[in-house]
Amino acid sequence: MEVVTTIKQTRALVASARARGESVGFVPTMGALHVGHRSLIQASRQKCDLTVVSIFVNPTQFGPAEDFDSYPRVEEKDRTTCDQEGVDLLFMPPVKEVYPQPCLSTLRVRDLTSGLCGRFRSGHFDGVATVVLKLFNMVQPDQAFFGEKDYQQLRVIQQMVADLMVPVEIVACPTYREADGLALSSRNQYLTAGERVQAAVLHRAMGRAVDSVHGGSVRAEELLADMRQEITAAGPCIIEYIDIVDTQTLQDLDEVDRPARICLAVRIGACRLIDNIAVDRA
Ligand code: AMP
Repeated sequence: MEVVTTIKQTRALVASARARGESVGFVPTMGALHVGHRSLIQASRQKCDLTVVSIFVNPTQFGPAEDFDSYPRVEEKDRTTCDQEGVDLLFMPPVKEVYPQPCLSTLRVRDLTSGLCGRFRSGHFDGVATVVLKLFNMVQPDQAFFGEKDYQQLRVIQQMVADLMVPVEIVACPTYREADGLALSSRNQYLTAGERVQAAVLHRAMGRAVDSVHGGSVRAEELLADMRQEITAAGPCIIEYIDIVDTQTLQDLDEVDRPARICLAVRIGACRLIDNIAVDRA
């Protein structure tokens, strides 16, 4: 595995792979890699000849009161993980490489970013869309792999690529979960042992809502009230939002009368957990 820190080295290695006729897969991450990230790397390795992983904790997608400084950084462990997974090129740029001068250009994907996490994390998705486009321009992959775990982010990237004719195919990968249903996240390590047990309620509550829909109960108001009740009953928490939205537009639905997504963000202790699940009438 090659480990590089500059755009120049990355482009040179990707260009020589391409000259050999190889396809290039890209997995952008913020590090603290877990099994969910591994599943994205495996998807890339299955579909592409060369797999590039980036680790970059992007300052512009964190708000002033958020966890940029304390975000887990475990470089050595992440290198080993990438090596074990057969990553070809690990790109770990310092902030100065990605932002050599103040970035005056910001990409905003309208509408998709106004609801859900966008309501609580002002500017977050502008930061994400902008850095992902920058990373695409640095790596120039054929395919890029994103987790459904961050469903709003996935839709934002899909829309950005479609709107701007970015020549990268976005591959959506399923959310990897612990045995009790909790979605893996680098931030789960902020949970205490008791909170970790409590956190399983999120997937349980969403699963119950999916069952209710299949049983014919499709009114969002009732489904949301049941989920809120179940989540609050499991222990102290702050529900930032639970919404049932159209899969494509992310607009709130009154009824599950088309392919939909239940999306939520809940604070348990020091940890802000987000999760989502697909739901349809059928
Ligand atoms: P992050 O390092 O949290 O920015 O995530 C990097 C990529 O991994 C994003 O595309 C995430 O959606 C994806 N990801 C994070 N957690 C999971 C998970 N539990 N299952 C699948 N993909 C995930």
